[in-house]
Amino acid sequence: MARMLCQICGGPTPGTNGKRTLFLVGADGGRPIQEAEPTASPPVHAACARLAVDHCPSLRRRWSAALVSRTPVWGVAGLLYHPRTLTEVPRPDGGLHRVPFTDQERLPWILASRLMVTLQDVTPVLDLDDLTDDIVGAAAAAP
Ligand SMILES: [Zn+2]
Repeated sequence: MARMLCQICGGPTPGTNGKRTLFLVGADGGRPIQEAEPTASPPVHAACARLAVDHCPSLRRRWSAALVSRTPVWGVAGLLYHPRTLTEVPRPDGGLHRVPFTDQERLPWILASRLMVTLQDVTPVLDLDDLTDDIVGAAAAAP
């Protein structure tokens, strides 16, 4: 995530230093990516996104994509431990706890496995077939 490498092939993406980068996430109920939404999903190339949607069972029916111009760091995702018992704090869904860097109470007790960023200047993508890497890497519009 920190180097903005594609989550499918591991190659460099345009990054968000003045350019737009494609993000693809699983979407419960088809919910679109929201402005300022935190995510642990790294960016993806347009061609890799099409492959992922076609072949990944968790994305095949429900995904959401967006072109994003800025990705400031937000926090981490990982295993959270109770400060007194030092036992793992379970989550009802079995997933990872998401802790922002501003949460000074929980941050010392998380074993981070993923860096999370906030997606800003979000432009929803409804059809991945029309995307090319030139469109994805185009300069972001001036604010
Ligand atoms: Zn790729």
